[in-house]
Amino acid sequence: MADTQSMEEKKEILKQWLSGSHNIVFFGGAGVSTESNIPDFRGVDGLYRQKYRYPPETILSRTFYESHTDEFFDFYRDKMLFPEAKPNAAHLALAKLEQAGRCKAVITQNIDGLHQAAGSRKVLELHGSVLRNFCLCCGRFHGIEEILSSRGIPRCECGGVIKPDVVLYEEGLDEAVLQEAVRCVRAADVLIIGGTSLTVYPAAGLIDYYRGNKLVLINKSATGMDSQADLLIAGPVSLLHECLPQE
Ligand code: NAD
Repeated sequence: MADTQSMEEKKEILKQWLSGSHNIVFFGGAGVSTESNIPDFRGVDGLYRQKYRYPPETILSRTFYESHTDEFFDFYRDKMLFPEAKPNAAHLALAKLEQAGRCKAVITQNIDGLHQAAGSRKVLELHGSVLRNFCLCCGRFHGIEEILSSRGIPRCECGGVIKPDVVLYEEGLDEAVLQEAVRCVRAADVLIIGGTSLTVYPAAGLIDYYRGNKLVLINKSATGMDSQADLLIAGPVSLLHECLPQE
């Protein structure tokens, strides 16, 4: 179907869908946090366009973490941690939708904790969080500050190596989080997908569980799943803020 609506018409439809629903689910990725100055992976200024000794997929794999732990943490501290980042208009809009009883869950591939910082409570973190780190030996919790202030390989008091609670390539997702995400998508009336290239599986497969007819896809660049959208918006996720219902 030809995409003939103007941006203003699309925003108007989105406004109507948001104000008519108390069962909205949002599913997002790195593009949600680019306006908080955290680079994405595959966008125009993304990490994958920069040059490293190894490709980011290699560095962020379990094998690399185990075999080149020192180098892993150099990259991780430099490129994955943004302690100064603050929630942007997209995070805040979703928190408002939840407070108004409209948004039932935010499902995120992000690991930055910004949805919770904005006030969202039901956040399903498919890929974990940089804010949590655990000793591989004794299981003790360590905050992000300990990773930031350490040099080389961060170690626990017990001598064990600390691992960030983020899902690395080659690692599986938390089954309970994934199942709850599937349940939320299945039950959703309006599903908004935003700021994700929809290329990382199994997360990207969540779209297949949606059964409604109000699938909104908001992304700056085209994705392979654009044809599945009932409302396709080529733009920033932060435009959600302009479409909030007057409560
Ligand atoms: P991706 O980098 O593959 O894709 C991001 C998409 O968002 C791109 O299509 C880009 O065009 C679009 N985009 C960028 N800024 C946008 C904006 N303001 N509004 C709308 N669209 C925008 O990201 P992904 O699909 O989430 O997959 C990458 C993986 O990288 C995820 O697993 C995630 O865990 C991880 N990651 C997380 C963070 C973070 O926590 N903030 C940052 C980088 C990567």
